[in-house]
Parts: sequence; structure tokens; C-alpha cells
Amino acid sequence: MTHEHDTPLIASCPLGCEGTLAPTDIVLPEGPLMRCARCGQLVSRASVARYEQSMAEFDDPRGTLPDAAAAPRRDKMSLRRLKLIETMIGKPRGKIRLLDVGCSSGAFLRAARAAGFAAEGVEPAPQAARTARAAGFAVFRGTLVEAAYPPHSFDAVTMFEVIEHLADPLAVAAECRRVLQPRGLLVIGTGNTASWTARVMKARWEYLHIDRHGGHVSFYHPASIRVLAQKTGFSVARIATRSVRFAEKGELPAPLYAMLKVASELLNLPARLAGRGHDMLAVLRKFD
Ligand SMILES: [Zn+2]
Repeated sequence: MTHEHDTPLIASCPLGCEGTLAPTDIVLPEGPLMRCARCGQLVSRASVARYEQSMAEFDDPRGTLPDAAAAPRRDKMSLRRLKLIETMIGKPRGKIRLLDVGCSSGAFLRAARAAGFAAEGVEPAPQAARTARAAGFAVFRGTLVEAAYPPHSFDAVTMFEVIEHLADPLAVAAECRRVLQPRGLLVIGTGNTASWTARVMKARWEYLHIDRHGGHVSFYHPASIRVLAQKTGFSVARIATRSVRFAEKGELPAPLYAMLKVASELLNLPARLAGRGHDMLAVLRKFD
């Protein structure tokens, strides 16, 4: 007898591949991660109930606002991404209308506004959305599909740390396409399971854990991003990866952790060149 409670959130490849999912040797508390034999996407065995519970736990007013120590690095990353968007769209930033999907409390919206972009957001988590609105942003509280923006509303749609939460990424990417201008950009930031970090750390990689990263259930690599693009009417304009890590903080005695950290920093450049970093940024372009 099965209960609604135990139903896995994702029972087949979320990118629509045919065939079954096979267990991997990456074993999480919910069970082994499952791999699509066609595209290599990894998915969690978390139940619907576990997923919803973990998403609710992570709604708080601060959302993804970085603390003071992390803010300068985060701002630098946001500026780098904004500059890339401006270059690839080829319009002055003041004329670029940007939608940040899963904007949380508005950290990226703040960076975009400060840099001169016209930016608004979508966020389902009520408390985080309230914080972004209080900072003066137009934020739809709900999902992108629920927001029902008119077609061709935006030059760029960004989704940072969002797509790994989605059980139906094809529907969301198709909606992104609908609200984008012709040749508009969909910019996706997510983890990379083809990274050296994933290969070495397997289940020790915190990113894969729903209790550390609420709602993380679907894990990409460049090949599965290409499948997503191809199935939803985008071309892949650029995929870049960065960063290597071989241990999580607190997992090892401090001196050993420090040594591994130095070793992994030496590998940052080669990882970037080889496409084996664990932070992936994909820029997809809508074609007509
Ligand atoms: Zn697949």
C-alpha cells in the first residue's frame, strides 16, 4: 500500500527523457540519487511531503541576503553576471528589463538596481518576498507560471539556485521563453554534477542535501542543461563552471581542512578551463 506521503516528488527524468532512472552510488538519507540513463540528470528520491517541508523550513525574511562577511564576494559575482547579460543582450543596461525568478529577499535585485538595470522579481516564499517588496521592488508572490506576465515582457530572465528545486523544469523554461523578447536570455545558475567536487565528494557534497539546502532535488550538468534548452526552444549561448571543493567546513580537523582548501584553490583555474567546476552558469538564448 502506498501513501500520498511517500510518493517520490520526481519519478521519471524531469527533462522528459524516456526510460527509467537507475540508482547511483551517491546515497543520501532519502535513498540513492537516481540517474537518467539518457541525459545523466541526477534526481533525489525525496517524497512530496519531505520536499514541501524542506522548502517551508527555508522561508525566512532574510532569505538569501548575504551576511556582512559574504556580501563583497556576492556583490562581485552579481556584477560579473550583470555585465555578461549587458554584453550578450547588446543594449545599454538602462534599457534592459530583467526578471529574477526565485528572487528570495532581493539580493540580486539590489545589485541589478544599483548597476542601473530595470529589475523585478518572482518569489513563492512569503517572508522572503515581503523583504524584497519592502526594498521597493515589484515582486510577484508565487510561481512564474502564476505570475502570467504578458508575452515578450523581459530582455533577460535569471534563475539562480532555483532550477535544482523544480520537479517540472520544462514547464518553467517554456514560460521563461514566453515572457522573453525574441533573442532574450535565460540565465541559469546551478550546481554541476560533472564537477570534480561531485566526483570526489559524492554524498558528502552538502549541495545534494535537502536538509542543508531546502528543496534541492534535481541536479544538472552541462549535457542535461543542453537537453533542457533543446526541448524548450533555446540555444545554448554559453556554459561556464567554476570552483572546486573537496571537503565541507567542519567535516575535518581544521588543519587538514585548511590544507585541502589550498589544494582545491590551486585547481580552480584548471577546473574552469576543463568545465569541471561545481558552480555552473548557463546562458540560453531564445530563438524563433
Ligand atoms: Zn534525462
